[in-house]
Amino acid sequence: MACELCEGTHWVCENHPDRPWDGPKACGGAGAPCPVCNNAGPDELPILPKGFETSFTTTEIMKPFLRKTRGGKRRT
Ligand SMILES: [Zn+2]
Ligand SMILES: [Zn+2]
Repeated sequence: MACELCEGTHWVCENHPDRPWDGPKACGGAGAPCPVCNNAGPDELPILPKGFETSFTTTEIMKPFLRKTRGGKRRT
């Protein structure tokens, strides 16, 4: 059963957190780990989106995607 938020891709759009992330060809927003099924801790690497090349799996590359998880929620 696929996750309702990300449809099993484990990633949602940063600008549309209720939709699956479509990669660079999406709306232009960055990807964010799905809060439901890909809720990695600060020291964990989230599950990578399908199609992500293994060369992208370094923590360095993942930093832009992880920035939202740092420090919790900014807004209420
Ligand atoms: Zn979007
Ligand atoms: Zn999900």
